[in-house]
Amino acid sequence: MRYFDHNATTSIAPEVLEAMMPFLTDRWGNASSSYRFGHAVAEHIEQARADVARLLNAAPEEIVFTGCGTESNNTALHSAISTQPQRRHLVVSAVEHPATLKYARHLERQGYEVSVVPVDREGRLDLVFLERSLRPDTALVSIMWANNETGMLFPIETIAQQCRERGILVHTDAVQAAGKVSLDVRAAPVDFLSLSAHKLHAPKGVGVLYVRGGTRLQPLLIGGGQEHGARAGTENVPYLVGFGAAARRAQARLAEYGIRVRAMRDRLESCILRSIAKTHRNGAEEPRLPNTSNLSFVGIEGEGLLHRLDEAGICVSTGSACTAGHPEPSPVLMAMGLSPARARGAVRFSLGLDNTGEDVEALLALLPQLVHELRRAQS
Ligand code: PLP
Repeated sequence: MRYFDHNATTSIAPEVLEAMMPFLTDRWGNASSSYRFGHAVAEHIEQARADVARLLNAAPEEIVFTGCGTESNNTALHSAISTQPQRRHLVVSAVEHPATLKYARHLERQGYEVSVVPVDREGRLDLVFLERSLRPDTALVSIMWANNETGMLFPIETIAQQCRERGILVHTDAVQAAGKVSLDVRAAPVDFLSLSAHKLHAPKGVGVLYVRGGTRLQPLLIGGGQEHGARAGTENVPYLVGFGAAARRAQARLAEYGIRVRAMRDRLESCILRSIAKTHRNGAEEPRLPNTSNLSFVGIEGEGLLHRLDEAGICVSTGSACTAGHPEPSPVLMAMGLSPARARGAVRFSLGLDNTGEDVEALLALLPQLVHELRRAQS
């Protein structure tokens, strides 16, 4: 298998599994227990918290472990409106992940007002619209650090500064940015930031919500007092430890991501655009995640190409949800104003640290012929 879908999920790194193993086998105690067999595992949770904090240049006490990136996003929105009941307005971008957008729509149905910041044809945020949307009753601005489909990076530092000056809380979904670009919550003064471990070579089902010191948090889950009262539910110790190991690994390999992964992505993208006629990049060349390339192949369905590549053992993604066999064009690409045909012809290639130059050459060797055959079959 050659895997080009790292924005969907990643493999568990050997060192992450190794760090988790003792807590899946011998050290299965409950961190809240009073005897040593239990509470001794708590210090490993605190180590993991410190490791994740370092990835963000945050303080360990600002890190709350959650069940996934979706829960982190939901919690940020829920908390912002619950702690400021007089503020009934939210700002999100048109290209947020459903984990944010659907929750915002849910709040809209409950009577909140939601301003949706548009993007241009290159996937860039309309910053003038954003600034004009800010109001005295804005409870939260939630803008992702990087888009999962196009890889476009948004100017979170500027947005966070603007909101801070106006006393408005800011959340950023950094699920796709972590481990791919450097994140610094001191330079970009957000109040909330979401992470998900499974994009960082750790297991699915564990997330983080960074909560700036001094920002009030209203937890989503009501129950036990775990996570210092910030997130109820008995700690999933092995997964939290795994997240810590993944954060250490991501930090150590950040430069490699920016150089080696970027070089592979650039070769893949430029060769495809040069060697296959009628192909377009969706999203601007920069500022963009170093691993993501979203390309449309005019005249074919991305879904069709995905399946042909799958037969050859190559994994990519289209971003379109397949409803009853009819691929719906990606809402992100539609929000960019691309035609439904161009959006349906899109394929996302997302590379990672475990790709090699050989993977890229194998894909490049196969792709022109597959596109040619699919185009011939369609005409
Ligand atoms: N936000 C973004 C940008 C994502 O890409 C994803 C996952 O694809 C999520 C949030 C959700 O994270 P999780 O799968 O941990 O719920």
